[in-house]
Amino acid sequence: MDIKSVGIVGAGQMGNGIAHVMSLAGYDVLLNDVSGDALKAAVATIDRNLERQVSRDKISADEKAAAMACIKTTPTLTDLGRTDLIIEAATERETVKQAIFEDLLPHLQPHTILTSNTSSISITRLASRTDRPEKFMGFHFMNPVPVMQLVELIRGIATDAETFDACRAVVDKLGKTAATAEDFPAFIVNRILMPMINEAVYTLYEGVGSVQSIDSSMKLGANHPMGPLELADFIGLDTCLAIMNVLHDGLADTKYRPCPLLTKYVEAGWLGRKSERGFYDYRGDVPVPTR
Ligand code: NAD
Repeated sequence: MDIKSVGIVGAGQMGNGIAHVMSLAGYDVLLNDVSGDALKAAVATIDRNLERQVSRDKISADEKAAAMACIKTTPTLTDLGRTDLIIEAATERETVKQAIFEDLLPHLQPHTILTSNTSSISITRLASRTDRPEKFMGFHFMNPVPVMQLVELIRGIATDAETFDACRAVVDKLGKTAATAEDFPAFIVNRILMPMINEAVYTLYEGVGSVQSIDSSMKLGANHPMGPLELADFIGLDTCLAIMNVLHDGLADTKYRPCPLLTKYVEAGWLGRKSERGFYDYRGDVPVPTR
């Protein structure tokens, strides 16, 4: 199946990154969000990030202009029904994602492939509530999308070979590398990464280390490019908590219990970089640890 147009639901940090790489690869992109401000901010972010690639000689000014011309936005979700491939990248909450697919269904073309960029939610369960479980799969980009090489491709129990091959061809065209994961909670990357981040929050909660000592220990002692708390702020603490809850519920093992301190930060609305406060406060010139 030849995919020419891509509809993206959710214009947050992942949605704008996905629109960025898809447009550079020549796909027609239609980007939707419930928030008009998020749509405007996404286009501005894509423009800025493409400009940075021009200034570093990664792409030409003509390539940037061609990519920007490929991106259209719409406040109306159902407009995405005319695209060949839909990637849902809205908030990590199952009820939100389910409502999006329900609204989209009557407007889809028969050949349209539905995918979700979910970090952890069951692809099989999301697919089972649509009219096309065989044309539904997980299309999981990493953050930041223009920089990270990996895309996890997750087959639901009913996903057919044609759908999988079409999505793998898109990953190839993006110049990225696909890893195939089975549909179990949080797939591969987050199954391993999130418990490590959650353990870092427990280490803070129990007073074993400060934000700074935990992050520098893992950077200098384990050669991680970012400390786990800095990385949690980058991902979004709400997303981290949602993934831990999916692991805890889905695998029914207490080793995945979310740290109460992570819950407290989310309850405070301190979600990390996107809300300017998390384990660090980003409102000044340099990030300052909040504990
Ligand atoms: P985000 O909070 O930056 O953006 C989510 C966007 O979805 C917001 O702009 C919001 O307005 C929009 N939205 C909410 N409900 C909607 C609806 N009904 N219709 C249309 N838009 C809606 O979140 P994000 O970090 O971009 O995460 C999005 C998805 O990508 C989640 O499923 C998350 O698990 C996944 N993901 C995140 C990361 C990461 O590092 N943050 C990495 C890989 C995958």
